[in-house]
Formats: sequence, C-alpha cells, structure tokens
Amino acid sequence: MPSFLSANRSPIPILTYHQIETCPPRGAAFRSLYVSPIDFARQMALLSRLGYRGLSMSALMPYLNGEISGKVVGITFDDGYLNNLSNALPLLRRFGFSSTCYVVSQRVGETNEWDSVAGIAQTPLMNAAQLRHWLAGGQEVGAHTRHHVHLPQHDAATCADEIARCKAELERMTDSPVRHFCYPYGEFEKDHAEMVQIAGFQSATTTQRGRCQNGDDLMQLPRVPVLRSTVLPLYWLKLATGYEDRRRAA
Ligand SMILES: [Zn+2]
Repeated sequence: MPSFLSANRSPIPILTYHQIETCPPRGAAFRSLYVSPIDFARQMALLSRLGYRGLSMSALMPYLNGEISGKVVGITFDDGYLNNLSNALPLLRRFGFSSTCYVVSQRVGETNEWDSVAGIAQTPLMNAAQLRHWLAGGQEVGAHTRHHVHLPQHDAATCADEIARCKAELERMTDSPVRHFCYPYGEFEKDHAEMVQIAGFQSATTTQRGRCQNGDDLMQLPRVPVLRSTVLPLYWLKLATGYEDRRRAA
C-alpha cells in the first residue's frame, strides 16, 4: 500500500461535511450532519484568515505524498447533496477553494434513500448536469459506491462491482476522471482497501478520526468530522491541534 514518504511534515486535516443546509426541526434524525450555510461561510472565512488553502483530494495528493508542503486542508462532502452545489459552491469559489464531493452513482438525481431506514429526511442529490456544474466550478467528484452499501455485508464480487463500476459510471456521466473514493458509513475491511486500489483510485477516506500523518495508508485516510455542533473555536482545535488525533482509534 502506498504511504507517506517524507518526514517532517505537519499533519494534514481532511474535513468531512455532509449537508450544507439550515437544520431541519428539532426531533429530526441526524441533525448533526447539517452545517448551516452561515456556519460554513464562517468556517471557510476562518480557514482563509488563518492562511489555509482548502483543497480537493486531487489537489491535496502532492501534499499527502510529501512532494510539497504547505498550510493546506482537504475539504470533502459525502453523498452528493444538491445543497453542496447551491450553498457550498459559491462560498468555496469566494475563497478560491476546491473540494471533493463523493457521489453514489446509482442515486444521481435521486435522494438519500439509503438513510430512510434510519428515519433521516430525504434530500435531493445532484443529477448529472449538476455534477458537471460542480466540476465546472472548480470542484471534484469522487466515488462513494453505486448504492451506498455496507461493504462488509456483501460478497467480494458485489463489493468489487460497487467500487469499480461506481468509478466508471461517474466518469461516463461527467466525462472526467474519478480518482478518489470514500467508504460508505466508514465501513471497510482490508480486502476492500485492496479493491479500491486495484480499481485505480489514488486515495480512499474513512470515518476514522484524526489528521493525516506520515505513514498513513492512502487507501485508509482519517478525516475530521464537522458537525452542526462544531462551533468555531472547536473547528480551530480540530484543524490546528492534536484534538482529533487523540480521538483516533488505536
Ligand atoms: Zn455516505
């Protein structure tokens, strides 16, 4: 497995967002996964003020590979919500940031139906034309399987198909290369990481908490969750200190 080669590199945070939208009413499930457009704007402004550059996974790769160093942070969005395009893109562009949105190829233009069992409200996902607008706005599309599956619950052939065909389907839809993957629910086993690499992805992100460190496996990168409850001082702690690294499972 590829890993960081260079020493003396400071940890790189990769932020995880889901929906950039005003939170649904009290009592709705998973309200924590909503970051309001106002909070997102404040977070992007803080990054900019602190001198960070927000980058997509492709733009982050030379830093993760230790080829160059700099004050950078990865910005990722899981699932492909339309509100990423409508609410996050204008702010990303204002600050000159790029990001990667991980898309479920068989749910493009539909809703997050995989969440309905958990009682989570259905929200529109970007369709193919909207994904192309996302790309045209300087952002990146990554893969999140064809059906947002729990990989450990399926046989190897199904998992390989969910991983590899998602890439092919998204590439056909967007007419652009899809180089980065994210495990749905953060669930994967060693075999799945190998499948992701064999499918030709350059990185894969997880829900393991922490900032990326020297020696991390590019097919199992940790991230830093940003939730509705992530107030600005905590946001800074997560980025700039060992706060998240201490929450990384052994
Ligand atoms: Zn997801």
